[in-house]
Amino acid sequence: MVQYHAVLMATRASAHKAAQTSLRRLPSVDELLSNERLRRLAREVGRPLVLLAARQVLAGLRQQIRRGPSPGQAGLSQAELEPALAHLPQDVEAEVRERLAHSLRPVINATGVVLHTNLGRAPLGAEAARRVYELATRYSNLEFDLGKGARGRRDVHAGKFLDRLLGLRSAEGRASGMSLVVNNNAAAVLLVLNSLAEGGEVIVSRGELIEIGESFRIPDIMARSGVILREVGATNRTRPADYARAINRRTKLLLRVHPSNFRLQGFVERPPLDALVTLARRRRLPLVEDLGSGLLVDLSPQGLREEPVASASLRAGVDVITFSGDKLLGGPQAGLIAGKKKYLERCRKNPLFRALRVDKMTYAALEATLRSYLRGALEEVPALRLIRSTAEEISQQAEQLRTALERDLAGRAELSVRAGQSVVGGGSTPGYTLPTKLLVISPRGMSAAELAARLRRADPPVVVRVEAQRVLLDLRTVFEDQQAPLAAALGQALRS
Ligand SMILES: *Cc1c(COP(=O)(O)O)cnc(C)c1O
Repeated sequence: MVQYHAVLMATRASAHKAAQTSLRRLPSVDELLSNERLRRLAREVGRPLVLLAARQVLAGLRQQIRRGPSPGQAGLSQAELEPALAHLPQDVEAEVRERLAHSLRPVINATGVVLHTNLGRAPLGAEAARRVYELATRYSNLEFDLGKGARGRRDVHAGKFLDRLLGLRSAEGRASGMSLVVNNNAAAVLLVLNSLAEGGEVIVSRGELIEIGESFRIPDIMARSGVILREVGATNRTRPADYARAINRRTKLLLRVHPSNFRLQGFVERPPLDALVTLARRRRLPLVEDLGSGLLVDLSPQGLREEPVASASLRAGVDVITFSGDKLLGGPQAGLIAGKKKYLERCRKNPLFRALRVDKMTYAALEATLRSYLRGALEEVPALRLIRSTAEEISQQAEQLRTALERDLAGRAELSVRAGQSVVGGGSTPGYTLPTKLLVISPRGMSAAELAARLRRADPPVVVRVEAQRVLLDLRTVFEDQQAPLAAALGQALRS
């Protein structure tokens, strides 16, 4: 026992001595920073950042040396010391680049979900992006009336186009209503309810008390707006008479909500819009409709038959509509409010409008997007263009990618192209899919989940679907200039 203890002490002493010798070989921070590579880096990103990274890398190496060559731990043997020392400048540079890497980055969306809530919903068109750049990097007339040379209002901007697209302005330019832009549709609903019904009751069908995403629930947003929710009907059936019976002295507003992300089937009844319009008029109450998606053009040729077109609701007599800017409209994140002027003016005068207003970049992107609609140039709106891509077009791209990969891979994966379905997504068109062609990859010697994880680590990261031990790529949502980087990322992920 005593002998064993002595041997152990001796071993420890010699390990300690070896570590001391190695530690003395480490360069000082100043020596390390005088390396040519790091001097160049310091000119590029500034010396303080390089200094910080150098300290961290040296501290890491010091710790490894102290641990010694212990198996199973991140220790360092003496033989490994020389290469580690030679690699220090690269390690420092890698650390600097890591610290400077953007958190928000472009990704390749190979899921086929056009309005992917987690991947930034609608991508902007090139012209919209160009306008954002122009307006963001210069001064603008955001709140300046160029005619009068005096303070103006920001809410006139996108309204000019929106009013026309929604039929709120006659051919002669006469206005029958107006529109407002806020941060998102959740904000739009909040502002409308608070402006028109605070302290009063709002009647809504039990079949429309929906949740969108994980953070937008109609009952919660109503509570936060300071209105009292008055539910009527049953989950599956609500009739106009249910609304009529619930109206009382405290009633301030009738609310209709488009059930964007689910579909009730079977024994179902929802009051027709006309019946609600008639009821609201007779009882002198505003009828507000949360449309969710805000489709501006009829997409029934693409099969989107159940999505309400925004202008149709206004024509039917709804007093105020709200909808998102970055769902089927295909613009920036925004909430749009449109309808009768007397109601919209109340929203505009509400101090909440100031809190929920949008920046010049949003107006710039929204105006450019709406302008594409006005010119009938729907191909300029990426979301619409992607929805309208045909399975044949997508099939061609999938076959091209397959051919390129097959040349490259020599049996590392099994590849095929088969029919599948794309999803519109973004809390619109539940259960509705677009026919597409999928590139199916069964990797050899690695799981589909592992391949998906490697693709997420690529630069730019690639997001795919995984189903039944296969990786599925839907090129509907992959832009043309992303096809080469996608092929490169796949090749690398499968090879390494
Ligand atoms: C999507 C949606 C919302 C929320 O819109 P955001 O723009 O995400 O805030 C609200 N109501 C309905 C019916 C929706 O579909």
